[in-house]
Amino acid sequence: SLNPRLVTDYALEDSSQLKSLNIFTKLTPETALHQAKESAFRYETKDPKGPLDGIPIAIKDNFCTKDVVTTCASKMLENFVPTYNATVCQRLFNAGAVLLGKTNLDQFGMGSGTVDSIFGPTKNIWSENLKEEGKFRIVGGSSGGSAVAVATGITYAAIGSDTGGSTRNPASYCGVVGFKPTYGLVSRHGLIPLVNSMDVPGILTRKVDDLALILNTIAGPDDLDSTTFKREFKPINLPETADIDIRNVRIGIPKEYHCEGLSDEVLEAWVEIADLLQSEVASVEQVAMQHTSASIFVYSILNQCEVSSNMARYDGIEYGHRADENSSTEELYAKTRSEGFNRVVKTRILTGNYFLLRKNYHDYFEKALKVRRLIKNDFDQVFSEKVDVLLTPTTMTDAPLYSDFVSQSNRDQCAVQDFCTQPANMAGVPAITIPIKLSKKGLPIGLQLMSKNLSEETLLKVAKWIE
Ligand code: GLN
Repeated sequence: SLNPRLVTDYALEDSSQLKSLNIFTKLTPETALHQAKESAFRYETKDPKGPLDGIPIAIKDNFCTKDVVTTCASKMLENFVPTYNATVCQRLFNAGAVLLGKTNLDQFGMGSGTVDSIFGPTKNIWSENLKEEGKFRIVGGSSGGSAVAVATGITYAAIGSDTGGSTRNPASYCGVVGFKPTYGLVSRHGLIPLVNSMDVPGILTRKVDDLALILNTIAGPDDLDSTTFKREFKPINLPETADIDIRNVRIGIPKEYHCEGLSDEVLEAWVEIADLLQSEVASVEQVAMQHTSASIFVYSILNQCEVSSNMARYDGIEYGHRADENSSTEELYAKTRSEGFNRVVKTRILTGNYFLLRKNYHDYFEKALKVRRLIKNDFDQVFSEKVDVLLTPTTMTDAPLYSDFVSQSNRDQCAVQDFCTQPANMAGVPAITIPIKLSKKGLPIGLQLMSKNLSEETLLKVAKWIE
Protein backbone atom coordinates (compact mmCIF):
# COMPACT_ATOMS: atom_id res chain seq x y z
CA SER A 1 0.00 0.00 0.00
CA LEU A 2 1.10 3.50 -0.85
CA ASN A 3 1.32 6.57 1.33
CA PRO A 4 -1.93 8.58 0.76
CA ARG A 5 0.03 11.75 0.24
CA LEU A 6 1.89 10.18 -2.69
CA VAL A 7 -1.32 8.76 -4.15
CA THR A 8 -2.91 12.20 -4.25
CA ASP A 9 0.29 13.73 -5.67
CA TYR A 10 0.26 11.19 -8.50
CA ALA A 11 -3.42 11.72 -9.18
CA LEU A 12 -2.94 15.48 -9.40
CA GLU A 13 0.03 15.05 -11.66
CA ASP A 14 -1.92 12.72 -13.97
CA SER A 15 -4.81 15.13 -14.09
CA SER A 16 -2.58 18.00 -15.16
CA GLN A 17 -0.96 15.85 -17.84
CA LEU A 18 -4.36 14.85 -19.17
CA LYS A 19 -5.82 18.34 -19.01
CA SER A 20 -6.68 18.35 -22.70
CA LEU A 21 -9.31 15.63 -22.16
CA ASN A 22 -11.35 18.18 -20.20
CA ILE A 23 -12.39 15.79 -17.43
CA PHE A 24 -12.86 18.27 -14.60
CA THR A 25 -15.00 21.37 -14.28
CA LYS A 26 -13.01 22.20 -11.16
CA LEU A 27 -9.93 20.60 -9.65
CA THR A 28 -9.51 20.96 -5.90
CA PRO A 29 -5.77 20.43 -5.35
CA GLU A 30 -5.49 22.47 -2.13
CA THR A 31 -8.24 20.62 -0.27
CA ALA A 32 -7.11 17.31 -1.77
CA LEU A 33 -3.56 17.80 -0.52
CA HIS A 34 -4.81 18.94 2.85
CA GLN A 35 -7.06 15.87 3.17
CA ALA A 36 -4.25 13.61 1.93
CA LYS A 37 -1.87 15.01 4.52
CA GLU A 38 -4.31 14.15 7.27
CA SER A 39 -4.80 10.69 5.77
CA ALA A 40 -1.04 10.23 5.64
CA PHE A 41 -0.82 10.99 9.33
CA ARG A 42 -3.53 8.47 10.13
CA TYR A 43 -1.79 6.01 7.83
CA GLU A 44 1.41 6.31 9.79
CA THR A 45 -0.34 6.00 13.12
CA LYS A 46 -2.34 3.05 11.73
CA ASP A 47 -5.62 4.70 12.61
CA PRO A 48 -7.57 5.00 9.33
CA LYS A 49 -10.73 7.04 9.21
CA GLY A 50 -12.50 4.41 7.12
CA PRO A 51 -12.07 2.00 4.23
CA LEU A 52 -11.41 4.81 1.73
CA ASP A 53 -8.90 6.78 3.74
CA GLY A 54 -6.58 8.67 1.40
CA ILE A 55 -8.16 7.38 -1.79
CA PRO A 56 -8.76 9.97 -4.54
CA ILE A 57 -12.23 10.16 -5.99
CA ALA A 58 -14.05 12.47 -8.39
CA ILE A 59 -17.62 13.69 -8.14
CA LYS A 60 -19.94 14.75 -10.93
CA ASP A 61 -20.55 18.46 -10.83
CA ASN A 62 -24.25 18.13 -10.08
CA PHE A 63 -23.65 16.95 -6.49
CA CYS A 64 -23.42 19.67 -3.88
CA THR A 65 -19.99 19.93 -2.29
CA LYS A 66 -19.56 22.25 0.67
CA ASP A 67 -17.44 25.30 -0.18
CA VAL A 68 -16.64 23.88 -3.63
CA VAL A 69 -18.37 25.42 -6.63
CA THR A 70 -21.13 23.19 -8.07
CA THR A 71 -22.03 24.28 -11.58
CA CYS A 72 -24.10 21.57 -13.30
CA ALA A 73 -22.00 22.74 -16.28
CA SER A 74 -24.46 25.60 -16.68
CA LYS A 75 -24.08 29.35 -16.68
CA MET A 76 -27.03 29.35 -14.29
CA LEU A 77 -24.89 27.89 -11.49
CA GLU A 78 -21.47 28.99 -12.69
CA ASN A 79 -20.69 30.64 -9.35
CA PHE A 80 -22.87 28.57 -7.04
CA VAL A 81 -21.05 27.44 -3.90
CA PRO A 82 -23.17 25.12 -1.74
CA THR A 83 -23.10 25.41 2.02
CA TYR A 84 -23.50 21.67 2.55
CA ASN A 85 -22.39 18.30 1.17
CA ALA A 86 -24.71 15.91 -0.64
CA THR A 87 -25.22 12.82 1.52
CA VAL A 88 -23.25 10.69 -0.94
CA CYS A 89 -20.27 13.08 -0.73
CA GLN A 90 -20.48 13.35 3.04
CA ARG A 91 -20.44 9.56 3.45
CA LEU A 92 -17.45 9.22 1.15
CA PHE A 93 -15.57 11.94 3.05
CA ASN A 94 -16.49 10.29 6.35
CA ALA A 95 -14.85 7.12 5.04
CA GLY A 96 -11.69 9.12 4.29
CA ALA A 97 -12.03 9.61 0.51
CA VAL A 98 -10.09 12.52 -0.96
CA LEU A 99 -11.99 14.77 -3.38
CA LEU A 100 -9.78 15.45 -6.38
CA GLY A 101 -12.29 17.49 -8.30
CA LYS A 102 -15.73 17.90 -9.82
CA THR A 103 -16.34 16.32 -13.21
CA ASN A 104 -17.80 17.54 -16.46
CA LEU A 105 -21.34 16.72 -17.63
CA ASP A 106 -24.02 17.78 -20.05
CA GLN A 107 -25.74 20.82 -18.63
CA PHE A 108 -27.90 19.69 -15.64
CA GLY A 109 -27.39 16.07 -16.80
CA MET A 110 -29.44 16.57 -19.95
CA GLY A 111 -27.65 14.64 -22.64
CA SER A 112 -25.69 11.54 -23.48
CA GLY A 113 -22.41 12.84 -24.79
CA THR A 114 -20.88 15.30 -22.31
CA VAL A 115 -20.85 17.69 -25.23
CA ASP A 116 -23.37 20.26 -23.97
CA SER A 117 -21.36 21.86 -21.18
CA ILE A 118 -20.26 25.47 -20.70
CA PHE A 119 -16.78 24.01 -20.22
CA GLY A 120 -16.78 22.31 -23.64
CA PRO A 121 -16.83 18.57 -24.43
CA THR A 122 -14.88 15.88 -22.61
CA LYS A 123 -12.71 13.70 -24.86
CA ASN A 124 -12.49 9.93 -24.77
CA ILE A 125 -9.07 8.57 -23.80
CA TRP A 126 -9.68 5.68 -26.23
CA SER A 127 -9.90 8.02 -29.25
CA GLU A 128 -7.66 7.05 -32.19
CA ASN A 129 -7.18 10.71 -32.99
CA LEU A 130 -7.08 13.32 -30.26
CA LYS A 131 -5.29 15.96 -32.27
CA GLU A 132 -7.55 16.77 -35.20
CA GLU A 133 -10.50 19.11 -34.58
CA GLY A 134 -13.75 17.20 -33.87
CA LYS A 135 -12.18 13.83 -34.64
CA PHE A 136 -12.06 12.56 -31.08
CA ARG A 137 -14.52 10.00 -29.71
CA ILE A 138 -17.23 11.23 -27.36
CA VAL A 139 -17.25 9.86 -23.82
CA GLY A 140 -20.98 9.38 -23.54
CA GLY A 141 -23.00 11.12 -20.92
CA SER A 142 -24.06 12.80 -19.02
CA SER A 143 -21.52 11.61 -16.39
CA GLY A 144 -18.73 11.67 -18.99
CA GLY A 145 -16.09 13.41 -16.89
CA SER A 146 -16.52 10.82 -14.15
CA ALA A 147 -16.10 7.96 -16.65
CA VAL A 148 -12.81 9.35 -17.96
CA ALA A 149 -11.52 10.17 -14.47
CA VAL A 150 -11.76 6.43 -13.81
CA ALA A 151 -10.77 5.19 -17.28
CA THR A 152 -7.53 7.20 -17.15
CA GLY A 153 -6.76 5.87 -13.70
CA ILE A 154 -6.67 9.37 -12.22
CA THR A 155 -9.18 8.40 -9.55
CA TYR A 156 -10.05 5.06 -8.01
CA ALA A 157 -13.77 5.74 -8.33
CA ALA A 158 -16.11 8.47 -9.43
CA ILE A 159 -19.67 9.37 -8.62
CA GLY A 160 -22.11 10.00 -11.45
CA SER A 161 -25.86 10.36 -11.60
CA ASP A 162 -28.25 8.23 -13.60
CA THR A 163 -31.68 9.39 -14.73
CA GLY A 164 -31.94 7.57 -18.04
CA GLY A 165 -28.52 6.01 -18.42
CA SER A 166 -26.10 8.80 -17.57
CA THR A 167 -23.77 6.55 -15.58
CA ARG A 168 -23.99 3.43 -17.71
CA ASN A 169 -23.72 5.08 -21.12
CA PRO A 170 -20.35 6.80 -20.49
CA ALA A 171 -19.04 3.78 -18.57
CA SER A 172 -19.73 1.65 -21.61
CA TYR A 173 -18.05 4.07 -24.03
CA CYS A 174 -15.02 4.46 -21.77
CA GLY A 175 -14.47 0.80 -20.86
CA VAL A 176 -15.28 1.02 -17.15
CA VAL A 177 -17.92 -0.39 -14.82
CA GLY A 178 -20.99 1.82 -14.33
CA PHE A 179 -23.73 1.11 -11.84
CA LYS A 180 -27.22 2.44 -11.15
CA PRO A 181 -28.59 1.27 -7.78
CA THR A 182 -32.21 0.49 -6.97
CA TYR A 183 -34.16 3.76 -6.69
CA GLY A 184 -34.25 4.65 -2.99
CA LEU A 185 -31.15 2.68 -1.97
CA VAL A 186 -28.81 5.66 -2.19
CA SER A 187 -29.78 9.13 -1.01
CA ARG A 188 -30.45 11.88 -3.54
CA HIS A 189 -30.05 14.61 -0.95
CA GLY A 190 -27.77 17.23 -2.49
CA LEU A 191 -27.95 15.77 -5.98
CA ILE A 192 -29.31 18.66 -8.00
CA PRO A 193 -32.55 17.22 -9.39
CA LEU A 194 -33.26 16.47 -13.01
CA VAL A 195 -36.16 13.99 -12.85
CA ASN A 196 -36.89 13.27 -9.19
CA SER A 197 -38.79 10.07 -9.83
CA MET A 198 -35.89 8.54 -11.79
CA ASP A 199 -32.65 10.15 -10.56
CA VAL A 200 -30.18 8.01 -8.64
CA PRO A 201 -26.54 8.56 -7.73
CA GLY A 202 -24.37 6.24 -9.84
CA ILE A 203 -20.93 4.71 -9.31
CA LEU A 204 -18.07 4.32 -11.79
CA THR A 205 -15.02 2.15 -11.11
CA ARG A 206 -12.67 -0.13 -13.02
CA LYS A 207 -13.68 -3.29 -11.17
CA VAL A 208 -16.90 -4.65 -9.68
CA ASP A 209 -15.18 -5.18 -6.31
CA ASP A 210 -14.34 -1.48 -6.09
CA LEU A 211 -17.91 -0.65 -6.92
CA ALA A 212 -19.16 -2.81 -4.04
CA LEU A 213 -16.85 -0.97 -1.65
CA ILE A 214 -18.21 2.41 -2.74
CA LEU A 215 -21.80 1.16 -2.62
CA ASN A 216 -21.29 -0.15 0.91
CA THR A 217 -20.08 3.31 1.88
CA ILE A 218 -22.90 5.37 0.40
CA ALA A 219 -26.03 3.17 0.50
CA GLY A 220 -28.67 3.13 3.21
CA PRO A 221 -31.39 5.24 4.78
CA ASP A 222 -31.08 9.01 5.00
CA ASP A 223 -33.40 11.26 6.98
CA LEU A 224 -32.68 13.99 4.46
CA ASP A 225 -34.22 12.00 1.58
CA SER A 226 -37.66 10.66 2.35
CA THR A 227 -37.58 8.37 -0.68
CA THR A 228 -34.74 6.24 0.71
CA PHE A 229 -35.62 2.80 2.07
CA LYS A 230 -35.82 2.80 5.83
CA ARG A 231 -34.11 -0.56 6.27
CA GLU A 232 -30.39 -0.60 7.06
CA PHE A 233 -28.27 -1.64 4.09
CA LYS A 234 -26.46 -4.94 4.51
CA PRO A 235 -22.95 -4.48 3.07
CA ILE A 236 -22.14 -6.64 0.07
CA ASN A 237 -19.16 -8.96 0.34
CA LEU A 238 -18.28 -10.47 -3.01
CA PRO A 239 -16.42 -13.79 -3.02
CA GLU A 240 -13.29 -14.33 -5.10
CA THR A 241 -14.22 -14.91 -8.73
CA ALA A 242 -13.39 -18.61 -8.57
CA ASP A 243 -15.72 -19.02 -5.58
CA ILE A 244 -18.71 -17.19 -7.06
CA ASP A 245 -21.66 -19.51 -7.23
CA ILE A 246 -24.22 -18.52 -9.85
CA ARG A 247 -25.47 -22.01 -10.61
CA ASN A 248 -28.97 -21.09 -9.39
CA VAL A 249 -29.19 -17.88 -11.35
CA ARG A 250 -31.60 -17.70 -14.29
CA ILE A 251 -30.64 -15.30 -17.06
CA GLY A 252 -33.16 -13.62 -19.37
CA ILE A 253 -32.47 -12.19 -22.81
CA PRO A 254 -35.25 -9.70 -23.59
CA LYS A 255 -35.76 -9.88 -27.31
CA GLU A 256 -37.02 -6.30 -27.61
CA TYR A 257 -33.49 -5.05 -26.93
CA HIS A 258 -32.44 -6.57 -30.23
CA CYS A 259 -33.48 -3.37 -31.88
CA GLU A 260 -32.91 -1.11 -34.84
CA GLY A 261 -29.47 0.45 -34.86
CA LEU A 262 -27.79 -2.29 -32.85
CA SER A 263 -24.35 -2.84 -34.37
CA ASP A 264 -23.09 -6.28 -35.34
CA GLU A 265 -20.24 -5.98 -32.90
CA VAL A 266 -22.46 -5.28 -29.91
CA LEU A 267 -24.76 -8.10 -30.97
CA GLU A 268 -21.77 -10.47 -31.18
CA ALA A 269 -20.62 -9.49 -27.70
CA TRP A 270 -24.16 -10.05 -26.40
CA VAL A 271 -24.35 -13.54 -27.94
CA GLU A 272 -20.84 -14.41 -26.72
CA ILE A 273 -21.64 -13.59 -23.11
CA ALA A 274 -25.02 -15.35 -23.26
CA ASP A 275 -23.21 -18.46 -24.51
CA LEU A 276 -20.56 -18.14 -21.84
CA LEU A 277 -23.20 -17.90 -19.11
CA GLN A 278 -25.08 -20.90 -20.49
CA SER A 279 -22.38 -23.27 -19.21
CA GLU A 280 -22.47 -21.83 -15.69
CA VAL A 281 -25.96 -20.71 -14.71
CA ALA A 282 -29.28 -22.53 -14.22
CA SER A 283 -30.77 -21.27 -17.46
CA VAL A 284 -30.45 -18.69 -20.21
CA GLU A 285 -33.72 -18.03 -21.96
CA GLN A 286 -35.31 -15.49 -24.22
CA VAL A 287 -38.03 -13.40 -22.58
CA ALA A 288 -40.55 -10.86 -23.84
CA MET A 289 -40.94 -7.39 -22.36
CA GLN A 290 -43.49 -6.03 -24.73
CA HIS A 291 -43.59 -2.38 -23.70
CA THR A 292 -39.86 -1.82 -24.15
CA SER A 293 -40.11 0.11 -27.40
CA ALA A 294 -42.67 2.53 -25.90
CA SER A 295 -40.38 3.25 -22.99
CA ILE A 296 -38.15 5.82 -24.67
CA PHE A 297 -41.13 7.99 -25.69
CA VAL A 298 -42.67 7.87 -22.27
CA TYR A 299 -39.30 8.55 -20.67
CA SER A 300 -38.94 11.64 -22.80
CA ILE A 301 -42.39 13.00 -21.88
CA LEU A 302 -41.98 12.40 -18.15
CA ASN A 303 -38.45 13.77 -18.23
CA GLN A 304 -39.58 17.03 -19.79
CA CYS A 305 -42.53 17.41 -17.45
CA GLU A 306 -40.39 16.98 -14.34
CA VAL A 307 -37.64 19.17 -15.80
CA SER A 308 -40.07 21.99 -16.42
CA SER A 309 -41.19 21.93 -12.82
CA ASN A 310 -37.68 21.46 -11.39
CA MET A 311 -36.16 24.31 -13.33
CA ALA A 312 -38.69 26.76 -11.91
CA ARG A 313 -36.41 27.16 -8.88
CA TYR A 314 -33.90 29.08 -11.00
CA ASP A 315 -35.53 32.46 -10.83
CA GLY A 316 -32.47 34.65 -10.33
CA ILE A 317 -33.55 35.49 -6.81
CA GLU A 318 -32.64 32.70 -4.44
CA TYR A 319 -29.41 31.50 -5.98
CA GLY A 320 -27.49 31.17 -9.20
CA HIS A 321 -27.24 33.57 -12.07
CA ARG A 322 -29.23 36.81 -11.91
CA ALA A 323 -29.84 38.87 -15.00
CA ASP A 324 -29.26 42.56 -14.96
CA GLU A 325 -32.93 43.48 -15.17
CA ASN A 326 -35.11 45.49 -12.87
CA SER A 327 -38.17 46.51 -14.81
CA SER A 328 -40.33 43.71 -13.34
CA THR A 329 -40.05 40.39 -11.53
CA GLU A 330 -41.44 38.59 -14.56
CA GLU A 331 -38.79 40.14 -16.78
CA LEU A 332 -36.11 39.23 -14.29
CA TYR A 333 -37.18 35.56 -14.33
CA ALA A 334 -37.34 35.47 -18.11
CA LYS A 335 -34.03 37.17 -18.71
CA THR A 336 -32.26 35.13 -16.02
CA ARG A 337 -33.39 31.89 -17.60
CA SER A 338 -32.78 32.96 -21.13
CA GLU A 339 -29.18 33.87 -20.24
CA GLY A 340 -28.53 31.04 -17.79
CA PHE A 341 -29.81 27.96 -19.63
CA ASN A 342 -28.64 26.41 -22.87
CA ARG A 343 -30.96 25.50 -25.73
CA VAL A 344 -31.47 21.94 -24.55
CA VAL A 345 -32.68 22.99 -21.12
CA LYS A 346 -34.95 25.67 -22.56
CA THR A 347 -36.47 23.25 -25.05
CA ARG A 348 -37.20 20.71 -22.32
CA ILE A 349 -38.83 23.37 -20.13
CA LEU A 350 -41.05 24.54 -22.96
CA THR A 351 -42.03 21.04 -24.05
CA GLY A 352 -42.67 19.97 -20.48
CA ASN A 353 -44.94 22.95 -19.93
CA TYR A 354 -46.82 22.07 -23.09
CA PHE A 355 -47.44 18.52 -21.87
CA LEU A 356 -48.63 19.84 -18.55
CA LEU A 357 -51.11 22.37 -19.93
CA ARG A 358 -54.59 21.65 -18.64
CA LYS A 359 -55.76 20.64 -22.10
CA ASN A 360 -52.81 18.28 -22.65
CA TYR A 361 -52.22 16.92 -19.18
CA HIS A 362 -54.52 13.97 -19.60
CA ASP A 363 -53.33 13.03 -23.08
CA TYR A 364 -49.61 13.22 -22.33
CA PHE A 365 -48.57 13.29 -18.69
CA GLU A 366 -51.25 11.00 -17.32
CA LYS A 367 -51.04 8.55 -20.21
CA ALA A 368 -47.26 8.47 -19.91
CA LEU A 369 -47.60 7.55 -16.23
CA LYS A 370 -49.90 4.68 -17.19
CA VAL A 371 -47.48 3.33 -19.75
CA ARG A 372 -44.68 3.68 -17.21
CA ARG A 373 -46.68 1.35 -15.00
CA LEU A 374 -46.93 -1.18 -17.85
CA ILE A 375 -43.17 -1.02 -18.33
CA LYS A 376 -42.65 -1.63 -14.64
CA ASN A 377 -45.11 -4.53 -14.84
CA ASP A 378 -43.00 -6.11 -17.59
CA PHE A 379 -40.02 -6.11 -15.20
CA ASP A 380 -42.08 -7.35 -12.24
CA GLN A 381 -43.46 -10.14 -14.32
CA VAL A 382 -40.18 -11.48 -15.72
CA PHE A 383 -38.51 -11.23 -12.33
CA SER A 384 -41.33 -12.91 -10.46
CA GLU A 385 -41.93 -15.71 -12.93
CA LYS A 386 -38.95 -16.38 -15.08
CA VAL A 387 -35.51 -14.95 -14.46
CA ASP A 388 -33.20 -13.31 -11.92
CA VAL A 389 -30.98 -11.23 -14.17
CA LEU A 390 -31.52 -9.68 -17.59
CA LEU A 391 -28.65 -9.37 -20.04
CA THR A 392 -28.87 -6.62 -22.70
CA PRO A 393 -26.69 -4.21 -24.66
CA THR A 394 -25.87 -0.89 -22.97
CA THR A 395 -25.34 1.13 -26.13
CA MET A 396 -25.91 0.30 -29.80
CA THR A 397 -22.34 0.88 -30.94
CA ASP A 398 -18.90 1.80 -29.68
CA ALA A 399 -18.21 5.49 -28.95
CA PRO A 400 -19.24 7.78 -31.86
CA LEU A 401 -16.98 10.47 -33.30
CA TYR A 402 -17.68 13.91 -31.86
CA SER A 403 -18.37 15.39 -35.28
CA ASP A 404 -20.94 12.68 -36.08
CA PHE A 405 -22.54 12.87 -32.65
CA VAL A 406 -23.18 16.60 -32.68
CA SER A 407 -24.60 16.53 -36.18
CA GLN A 408 -27.80 15.21 -34.56
CA SER A 409 -29.92 17.05 -32.01
CA ASN A 410 -29.76 16.28 -28.30
CA ARG A 411 -33.26 14.86 -28.55
CA ASP A 412 -32.52 12.53 -31.45
CA GLN A 413 -29.34 11.39 -29.76
CA CYS A 414 -31.12 10.61 -26.49
CA ALA A 415 -33.66 8.49 -28.37
CA VAL A 416 -30.83 6.22 -29.54
CA GLN A 417 -28.40 6.48 -26.64
CA ASP A 418 -30.96 5.89 -23.89
CA PHE A 419 -32.94 3.14 -25.61
CA CYS A 420 -31.46 0.27 -23.58
CA THR A 421 -30.75 2.13 -20.37
CA GLN A 422 -33.81 4.23 -19.45
CA PRO A 423 -36.23 1.31 -18.86
CA ALA A 424 -34.32 0.52 -15.64
CA ASN A 425 -34.96 4.09 -14.45
CA MET A 426 -38.62 3.88 -15.38
CA ALA A 427 -38.94 0.73 -13.27
CA GLY A 428 -36.47 1.73 -10.55
CA VAL A 429 -34.48 -1.51 -10.83
CA PRO A 430 -30.70 -1.81 -10.37
CA ALA A 431 -28.54 -2.03 -13.50
CA ILE A 432 -24.84 -2.32 -14.23
CA THR A 433 -22.71 -2.08 -17.34
CA ILE A 434 -19.40 -3.90 -17.56
CA PRO A 435 -16.71 -3.72 -20.23
CA ILE A 436 -16.69 -6.84 -22.41
CA LYS A 437 -14.26 -6.40 -25.28
CA LEU A 438 -12.80 -3.97 -27.78
CA SER A 439 -14.37 -3.30 -31.15
CA LYS A 440 -12.39 -3.57 -34.39
CA LYS A 441 -11.63 0.12 -34.04
CA GLY A 442 -10.12 -0.59 -30.64
CA LEU A 443 -12.95 1.03 -28.67
CA PRO A 444 -14.66 -0.48 -25.60
CA ILE A 445 -17.97 -2.34 -25.81
CA GLY A 446 -20.02 -2.92 -22.67
CA LEU A 447 -23.08 -4.98 -21.80
CA GLN A 448 -25.82 -4.31 -19.29
CA LEU A 449 -27.25 -6.51 -16.54
CA MET A 450 -30.45 -5.68 -14.66
CA SER A 451 -32.14 -7.40 -11.73
CA LYS A 452 -35.09 -6.89 -9.43
CA ASN A 453 -35.28 -4.17 -6.80
CA LEU A 454 -32.75 -4.55 -4.00
CA SER A 455 -31.10 -7.60 -5.50
CA GLU A 456 -27.76 -5.79 -5.92
CA GLU A 457 -25.84 -8.72 -4.46
CA THR A 458 -26.90 -11.17 -7.18
CA LEU A 459 -26.39 -8.52 -9.84
CA LEU A 460 -22.86 -7.73 -8.75
CA LYS A 461 -21.98 -11.41 -8.39
CA VAL A 462 -22.97 -12.17 -11.98
CA ALA A 463 -21.16 -9.03 -13.13
CA LYS A 464 -17.99 -10.00 -11.30
CA TRP A 465 -18.15 -13.53 -12.67
CA ILE A 466 -18.37 -12.21 -16.25
CA GLU A 467 -15.69 -9.58 -15.65
N1 GLN B 1 -29.76 11.15 -22.09
C1 GLN B 1 -30.62 11.23 -20.94
C2 GLN B 1 -31.30 12.56 -20.91
O1 GLN B 1 -30.76 13.50 -21.44
C3 GLN B 1 -29.82 10.91 -19.74
C4 GLN B 1 -30.13 11.67 -18.52
C5 GLN B 1 -29.41 11.22 -17.32
O2 GLN B 1 -29.37 10.01 -17.05
N2 GLN B 1 -28.98 12.18 -16.51
O3 GLN B 1 -32.37 12.66 -20.40
